[in-house]
Amino acid sequence: MDDYKRKIKQHNLRDTQPRRSVFMALVNSDTPLSIRELTEKCSQVNRTTIYRALEKLAKIGLVQIVPIGWKQKYAVASSIAPEKYFVHCSHCGRDMPVESPELRHAVEGISKQTNFTINVCAFTLSGTCENCK
Ligand SMILES: [Zn+2]
Repeated sequence: MDDYKRKIKQHNLRDTQPRRSVFMALVNSDTPLSIRELTEKCSQVNRTTIYRALEKLAKIGLVQIVPIGWKQKYAVASSIAPEKYFVHCSHCGRDMPVESPELRHAVEGISKQTNFTINVCAFTLSGTCENCK
């Protein structure tokens, strides 16, 4: 939440209720969310407003777009939640969070090496889940 407040302020944006609820929905989710899932979780915000909020939040590095096959989902930026990696089942569409300190270290190493703040680490492992085998 501190990152959120800091970035919003830094970019002279208003801390609007839709922006905050979209961001919090992503923070509270273990896996990336689709627009449909976001509209369900933020039922008080309309779809267009959700799109706009996502666009703004992505632009200032709070949210990342996660491409999954032809579609895209949204997640909290990797610079804020670097521990959020997941595997995706291409049969049933299920996403499962994974713990990977190794991967986190690799990303941190790259960040140090290049002096980049990594906001987007769209890293998707796709395959077949336990139930679909
Ligand atoms: Zn599956």
